[in-house]
Amino acid sequence: MSTTAEQRAAQLQQERSLVEARGIKAGPQYEQWWWSVAAETRNLIDILRGAVANLGTNRASAAAEHAHEFFEKSTRNNTPDGPIACAKGCSLCCNLYVSATAPEVFFVANFIRREYSGSIDQILERVRQSDRDTRYMDDRQRLVSRFPCPLLGADGACSVYAARPSACRGWVSGSLDACKRGYSGEDIPIPRPEMWRNIRSAHVFAMEAALAATNHPPHHYAFAHALRIALENLDAEMRWLNGEDVFATVEPDSYEKQTPLAERKARVNMLIAAATGQDLPK
Ligand code: SF4
Ligand code: SF4
Repeated sequence: MSTTAEQRAAQLQQERSLVEARGIKAGPQYEQWWWSVAAETRNLIDILRGAVANLGTNRASAAAEHAHEFFEKSTRNNTPDGPIACAKGCSLCCNLYVSATAPEVFFVANFIRREYSGSIDQILERVRQSDRDTRYMDDRQRLVSRFPCPLLGADGACSVYAARPSACRGWVSGSLDACKRGYSGEDIPIPRPEMWRNIRSAHVFAMEAALAATNHPPHHYAFAHALRIALENLDAEMRWLNGEDVFATVEPDSYEKQTPLAERKARVNMLIAAATGQDLPK
């Protein structure tokens, strides 16, 4: 059914209010889900473009923070359709491959500068070592080599938990036993509540579309390499906002390699059109 520009604008406005209040409603109502993702896409575009006051050169970090709040609101306001076995101190998954978009990397770097200003040199050295150990490794090589994330604390907890990237937020398991067996090399599916996958997809799709709409690379970068660049260069976020591809040397992740470009482009174009009031692509 075709819709007029006024109807689409009203739908977007309504979804923006709902998304601000409770995140996304995960479930089978596909059209509503889609418009909720478009609403969050528009929120992120506005932040990245500077339409939200007082963010200055931290607009990229602010976009990641908004996206993460969207994720957290969504998980609070939906009921998981299965058990979740994850708990503080359980950290097998923090030895696996992690990727993050540029705003997420800047958000973590700024969090470290703010929360760990006295030990930034030690953290940076751990990040550099992790980058040296794992650069260009794929998912399988990371699983086998067992290098922990450089931000994993000695107590088994994430030291940047409030700022952790989408890949970590969205990675949950319904079975610790399945995680242990997978970590031991068994080729076993990890059970995950569908609701969680649904919210994680919304989180990723909105950020990818907002990055493309603001002419930034919509990549998911190898985390340690990208974080090293962000921590070593105080002005990296400002340069990135000004259009410099500061992560050009960082390898994008396997999700990007495995998802056909045409499929990603079609999704991104549809979300940008819905988020900015253009005619929806056929
Ligand atoms: S995904 Fe698995 S390994 Fe990671 S915290 Fe959850 S149960 Fe533990
Ligand atoms: S950022 Fe935190 S949650 Fe993510 S892999 Fe590293 S320690 Fe684990």
